[in-house]
Amino acid sequence: MRLNSTRGAAESCAFLEAATGRAPRDGGLWLPAALPRFADVDALLALAFPERAEAILNRLLGDELAPAEVAGLVARAFTFPLRTVAIDGRVSAVELFHGPTRAFKDFGARFLAALLELIAAREGGGPARTVLAATSGDTGAAVADALRDRAGVRAAILYPRGRISPEQERQIAAPAGNLLALAVDGSFDDCQRLVRGALAEPGADARLIPANSINVARLLAQCLYYFEAVAALPTDARARAVIAVPSGNFGNLCAGMLARELGLPVRAFVAATNANDAVPEHLEGGQYRPRPAVATLSSAMDVGAPSNWERILALHGGELSRVRAGLRWARASDGDTGSAMRALLRGGYLCDPHGAVAWHGLIRRLRPGERGLFLATAHPSKLRGTVRALTGADPGPPPLPAGKPCATPLSPRPEALAEVLRAFAAG
Ligand SMILES: *Cc1c(COP(=O)(O)O)cnc(C)c1O
Repeated sequence: MRLNSTRGAAESCAFLEAATGRAPRDGGLWLPAALPRFADVDALLALAFPERAEAILNRLLGDELAPAEVAGLVARAFTFPLRTVAIDGRVSAVELFHGPTRAFKDFGARFLAALLELIAAREGGGPARTVLAATSGDTGAAVADALRDRAGVRAAILYPRGRISPEQERQIAAPAGNLLALAVDGSFDDCQRLVRGALAEPGADARLIPANSINVARLLAQCLYYFEAVAALPTDARARAVIAVPSGNFGNLCAGMLARELGLPVRAFVAATNANDAVPEHLEGGQYRPRPAVATLSSAMDVGAPSNWERILALHGGELSRVRAGLRWARASDGDTGSAMRALLRGGYLCDPHGAVAWHGLIRRLRPGERGLFLATAHPSKLRGTVRALTGADPGPPPLPAGKPCATPLSPRPEALAEVLRAFAAG
């Protein structure tokens, strides 16, 4: 699969190069140069998840990966189910949180880990690559779990100190020989800026790999669950599907839009944000104004400068009117989020704050006759304390790795990051 930069086709590369860290020199992000539009979507939707995932990935990556390699990736990455739960007659939750770290980030992280293993095996040795991740909580946990103690790959994970849950910190910073947890004195946006800077630096270590949704491998893995979500609908409801996506960095929504480009029937997406609403403001005709993130109950969506917005614009030829044509949006305050969680619980469904933001947006934007799906991106146990305080219900503890968290403090300066990475690579 060929990819072009969002800032122009002068920069282009192959999928595996992009997945292993090559970045466009013009500061943009990779996006498929051309996407096929599948003529046999109904037949694809009739397949089970693994067979459908193989079929789609073979079509997209067949020029770079053999069918047996694709089959191996799917088998190693997607080892957990997706469940659709009916909330009422017209709305269902799509639970993407049944992976090892209980958030949807497991899909992308496990696919990336399986891909890196495959590449290391093809290369037959050499110095280990380092996956570099900035996290608002869940990405880091998923990357740490997917890569923990794997041979030939390491990961350095940056998170904003004091702004993730204790459970997330334990998942990220549980000791492992090939993982380095960095507690940054700053926000998620600071972490993301540091990671982008380290990757883009002239002469940057070619063995550094981004694990954020700026990595196109993650987006591809995420496309696959949109197909599964629509496949779970009755055939006659598919053309009326509206999917609400709780959005922070907008990688998840971008993946859904890629799936729609591939031919998946989705009438509209709902971009559901918390108070970090740079994108809704832009969609409403305001300037696009990235800004510092504010802290909310749906902390994994506290992103003030969402990096995938550039991709979504580029995917629509840079025209906001084309983005708007298939997109609705809504924001939820913390008050709205708590009310949504309590309303869902009265109907018998315990939902985490991220999923609740999506449900809140969905029911406000769903029109008569449409079928609504909202993505439940984290298991309620991931933010157990918050869920308990807001609803009175206890989702129980999340599964956590053994060992006391052990993180290295980091000041939000590029030189500081460069220094710890040098020491990590040497150690
Ligand atoms: C990362 C995350 C989001 C936001 O996804 P983006 O792709 O960054 O928009 C939503 N919910 C949860 C639980 C997350 O971890």
